[in-house]
Amino acid sequence: MTPATAYIGLGSNVGDRAAAIRSAVAALDELQGAKVLSVSDSIETIPEGPTGQDRYLNAAVVLECRLSPRQLLEAMLAIEAAHGRDRSTGKRWGPRRLDLDLLMYNDRIIDEPGLTVPHPRMHLRSFVLAPLAQVAPRAVHPGLDLTIECLRDHLAALPTAEYPQAEPC
Ligand code: ATP
Ligand code: CA
Ligand code: CA
Repeated sequence: MTPATAYIGLGSNVGDRAAAIRSAVAALDELQGAKVLSVSDSIETIPEGPTGQDRYLNAAVVLECRLSPRQLLEAMLAIEAAHGRDRSTGKRWGPRRLDLDLLMYNDRIIDEPGLTVPHPRMHLRSFVLAPLAQVAPRAVHPGLDLTIECLRDHLAALPTAEYPQAEPC
């Protein structure tokens, strides 16, 4: 089986953020059948969602991967849990020690319960697009048919709808 290329967004705004990102990258690399090909710089960003949260560190990685999208998401959720991610507060977009989002998986378009790929809000977020453009500028968003570089550069001009509803520019 030819390995797939997966693009993962990482974020942390609680505890030792840099350590959480570093250790999550290592954990992704250690997954059976996965290898981290590149890691972006971590950038500090202002949180969206509930106010009063601390700033995030965000990063992105490119992962060569023999897991299915579902298997990869399960593994990512397990890595979040191992880093003390607490989902019990129930607050959407609340503070977290580690958030791992599956941004893209090859050119696959998936819309299933619990798994939407490309991530439906990735094209609206500079905290996702800026680090992702560092490691995968030419990767193409398969739903919008635009490169990550283009999405990053034209973020302000793009529609604000979540994908799949979003119209390409
Ligand atoms: P956002 O999705 O807006 O970035 P969030 O990261 O805070 O918000 P979570 O609470 O981490 O959202 O995730 C909620 C659920 O989203 C997860 O349990 C997971 O099943 C689901 N999900 C669907 N598609 C994806 C994806 N591409 N990447 C990560 N999680 C996804
Ligand atoms: Ca997220
Ligand atoms: Ca998430």
